[in-house]
Amino acid sequence: MNLNFTPEELAFRQEVRDFVAASLPADIRHKVINGLILGRDDYVRWQKILHAKGWGGAAWKKDFGGTGWSTVQQYIFEEECAAAGAPRAIPFGLKMVAPVLMQYGSPKQQDRFLPKILSADEWWCQGYSEPGSGSDLASVKTRAVRDGDRYIVNGQKTWTTQAQYADWIFCLVRTDPEAKPQRGISFLLIDMRSPGVTVRPIITMDGAHEVNEVWLENVEVPVENLVGEENAGWTYAKFLLGHERTNIAGIGIAKRELSRLKRLASIETKNGKPLIKDPLFATRIAQVEIDLTALEITNLRVLAAEAERRAPGPEASILKIKGTEIQQAITELLVQVAGPYALQLRREAMAAGYQGDPVGPFYSVPLGPNYLNMRKLSIYGGSNEIQKNIISQMILGL
Ligand SMILES: Cc1cc2nc3c(=O)[nH]c(=O)nc-3n(C[C@H](O)[C@H](O)[C@H](O)COP(=O)(O)OP(=O)(O)OC[C@H]3O[C@@H](n4cnc5c(N)ncnc54)[C@H](O)[C@@H]3O)c2cc1C
Repeated sequence: MNLNFTPEELAFRQEVRDFVAASLPADIRHKVINGLILGRDDYVRWQKILHAKGWGGAAWKKDFGGTGWSTVQQYIFEEECAAAGAPRAIPFGLKMVAPVLMQYGSPKQQDRFLPKILSADEWWCQGYSEPGSGSDLASVKTRAVRDGDRYIVNGQKTWTTQAQYADWIFCLVRTDPEAKPQRGISFLLIDMRSPGVTVRPIITMDGAHEVNEVWLENVEVPVENLVGEENAGWTYAKFLLGHERTNIAGIGIAKRELSRLKRLASIETKNGKPLIKDPLFATRIAQVEIDLTALEITNLRVLAAEAERRAPGPEASILKIKGTEIQQAITELLVQVAGPYALQLRREAMAAGYQGDPVGPFYSVPLGPNYLNMRKLSIYGGSNEIQKNIISQMILGL
């Protein structure tokens, strides 16, 4: 197993670095680097820039307008984008529903939906979770009843990220309540503008409006929006989750945030010396950096295995657990750098260009809210406890 990058891959890294440096708008970079609030337009603008370059679908095959890059190239691309302060790609269209449509969608569905995902002209959200159906996803209760050439859908989805921006939602719905839980589920594409769809915000403990409840009341969905076969949705749901967990380690983001931690710990002082010189604090930073380096090597091993055409395996669960623990640990240390200033919860001061009175240094404003927000990492994408179950069964054979 060769963990070194080839000369071609190193040249590719440079090409990406140069392009991102030249093309990433400074105002978007400023927001990402400083942890300020990003809006829909920021994500859309960056995706359109990538699309114009032909890099909109980093993980897509060329047949569908993607780059056709190898997994190593995709990794390099994501790492360089994160390091430069680009917004992360919103995954719901590009990385979740698109692979499902490519694999299981009809040609008509592929033609209708994929180009607008790539060009960011349509925004998608994920309607999997329901109250009572999170880890136990196969228990979804949202009901779709066939009525001629349409389904009538009733139910409630929850934790739906950025549904307030979405044009479309892909949903797991129950089409056969008599069958075993996994057998009676279908995968439906629902227009968010359909009568009967209501989005209600959930405000999280950091004060953000990121997640929502989505209520579906007698929503009419044309049968042509069924993906694949009726009652076979669990197969597509699992296929999608496999894609959700690729590149989940977040190494590029963690590296960028670690640099930020070191930068801020060099500015702040303790007993008249830079905090980064404090032996205890320096040890904590070093521990995170060691863990991150170890994770990066593990990630490269996984990529090398994939390049040798071995299917991605349960090791993705290790990447998810360690990657999210590291990102959370960095947010904890950033809070310690800011001390009491990290206690402020002022969303208005997290908007770029805020002109109000400062409370503490500019950099400290988002640190508390970001610390709270990042608790989500160990919950979504399959909670870390669920990942440990996978490791115990699939790797340790327990
Ligand atoms: C910020 C955020 C954004 C999200 N965005 C979306 C989205 O866009 N679309 C969407 O569909 N969902 C989304 N989710 C939902 C997410 O996928 C679920 O929260 C997650 O699957 C956990 O489900 P749950 O919240 O129902 O918790 P539960 O499944 O009820 O779990 C509660 C606790 O029990 C543990 N647990 C459960 N089962 C087991 C087990 N078998 N063994 C050991 N421990 C177990 C869990 O790890 C957790 O700690 C989001 C969640 C968050 C927090």
